[in-house]
Formats: sequence, structure tokens, C-alpha cells
Amino acid sequence: HSKITGKGRVTQYDAALNSVREQQLAIENEIRSGMERDEFEVWYQPIIDARSQKMTSVEALVRWPRRPAGELGPDAFISIAETSGLIYALGQFVLRRACQDLEPFSDLKLSVNISPAQFRDPEFEEKVARVIEMTRFPANRLQLEVTETYVLENPERARAAISNLKALGTAVALDDFGTGYSSIGYLRRFNFDTIKIDKSLAGLVDNDEQAAALVSGTVRIASALGMAVVAEGVENEKQMKLLRLAGCDQLQGFWFSQPMPIEAIIELRKVRYV
Ligand code: C2E
Ligand code: MG
Ligand code: MG
Ligand code: MG
Repeated sequence: HSKITGKGRVTQYDAALNSVREQQLAIENEIRSGMERDEFEVWYQPIIDARSQKMTSVEALVRWPRRPAGELGPDAFISIAETSGLIYALGQFVLRRACQDLEPFSDLKLSVNISPAQFRDPEFEEKVARVIEMTRFPANRLQLEVTETYVLENPERARAAISNLKALGTAVALDDFGTGYSSIGYLRRFNFDTIKIDKSLAGLVDNDEQAAALVSGTVRIASALGMAVVAEGVENEKQMKLLRLAGCDQLQGFWFSQPMPIEAIIELRKVRYV
């Protein structure tokens, strides 16, 4: 076929960019009106204590039933909410709803994902304090999950935010460990309570010896630093057993349960996973 000129390529590229931008704007508007219409829900996935084999905690995960995963899952709409600033309101909604839902169940802790933009907000800790006060949710049952992207982008602000949250009594977890740089250096500089090993690593332990060794190594590093370890993405019995053997403190994944509405979680919480 015919040779594409430099100019032609630029034009095609611009057109592609424009259509991506248009799609994003359309989704932004959908998120905005979805929030006004109260379309968002918060579901919960059990986190299982590796020793007692009981649910001791849950992770709050936002759901948009009109836009089910696969089509436009949380990973996708959260990142659009981030670039558009809608994440502040959406994140605040998730935190408030989760604290309200879990408040009556004093045997369960709660872990909530916080996106980099929220954590960057200098008033973030104050907002958390206000939600805790409003919902009467005990600060020491709450954990916030942050990712490496954020702490590396603004280490000074991250250190301050982490220490302010700890002063409230709230724990801080490093989410998705194993997907980025995963350096020992920054683990030492930030005072996380928990490291969550991503499913792309933890989910391989049953057929990849190297992945299993990396999980054991992470557990040893975490324990030297006084941090607990959660393995994410546990999908079968063999993985569960290997991750327990590797010394993970807590386990999370479809093997135990999918994320579910609060009512279903309350029904499940007495189960012992043997
Ligand atoms: P994440 O925080 O790492 O959450 C774990 C994700 O793994 C969830 O996907 C969960 O449904 C999925 N998962 C759990 N167990 C298994 C398993 O055994 N196998 C597999 N394949 N997947 C498993 P989900 O709910 O689609 O959320 C994706 C990401 O979107 C989350 O990753 C988090 O980064 C973000 N996210 C979700 N809810 C929120 C929220 O309320 N606020 C913010 N800022 N981000 C959120
Ligand atoms: Mg998470
Ligand atoms: Mg994760
Ligand atoms: Mg993630």
C-alpha cells in the first residue's frame, strides 16, 4: 500500500488522541452523573488470618453495577476519576460508606484503597479524621492502602501523611507490592504497617519456584522491618498452603471469597476456612 507521509502519521496520531480524549470526557460525565444518581456501591472482600483461618478484616472495593468489570472495571474508571479530579468525591464516598457499613461489626477491621491524588491532598488526613468522627468508626480498625507510585513521587508528603495517619491510630498498607520497583530502600524509609503482595506474584507460587522464593524473601524483609504481609489473589488450595508456609500473615483471594455486598459478608464471617 501507499507510503504514509510524516504529516499523515501526525494527523492519524492526533485523531487517535482526540478520540481517546473524547471517550474519557464521556466517561467522566458518566461518572459525575452516576455519583449524583447514587449508582456507586461498595463491596467487600474477606481477608483471612493465616493462623486462625478466619475472616479478620475486609477490603472495600468500589463497584458500579451499571458498568460491570470487564467492560469498565474499577482500575479503568478510577484512573479516569483521578485525571478529572472526581476521585476526591468518589474516594470520600467509599471511605464514608465503608466506615458506616463496618462500624457495627467490631470483630472486623477495614482496609480502604486510597488513590495517589487523594493522598496528595494536603487536607487528606483531616478528611479521614472527619469521617472517623462522623461515622464513629474506631480509627484503630481502619487501614488505608496506598501504592508505590505515590510514595515515590512525593516522598516528603508521603512520610508526613503516613505519620499523621498513624497519629490518628489508622494503619497504612503498601498495596500491589511486587509490581513496581519494590525496593528495600523505600520500605525502610516509610513506616508501613502492612505489605500486600500483588496477585501477579502471590498467584504464581504454585507453579513457579522463583515466585515462591520471592514471597518468602518478602516475608523475611517485612518481618525484619516489623511489617505484616498479606498475599493477594489466592485462587486455589495449593497457593493457600504455600503462602501460609511462606509465612504470610493474612490471605485474600477468590479461593476464600469474591468481593460481596456487606449483607453477604456478615453471613460469611463466622466461617473457618480449613
Ligand atoms: P487492589 O486494591 O489491588 O484490589 C484487589 C483486586 O484484585 C480487586 O479488583 C479484587 O476483586 C481482585 N481480586 C481479589 N482476589 C482475586 C483473585 O483471587 N484473583 C484475581 N484475579 N483477582 C482478585 P477490583 O475490585 O477490580 O479492583 C481493581 C483495583 O481498582 C484495585 O486493586 C484498586 O487499585 C482499585 N480500586 C478498587 N476500588 C477502589 C476504591 O474504592 N478506591 C480506589 N482509589 N481504588 C480502588
Ligand atoms: Mg487494595
Ligand atoms: Mg492490590
Ligand atoms: Mg491495584
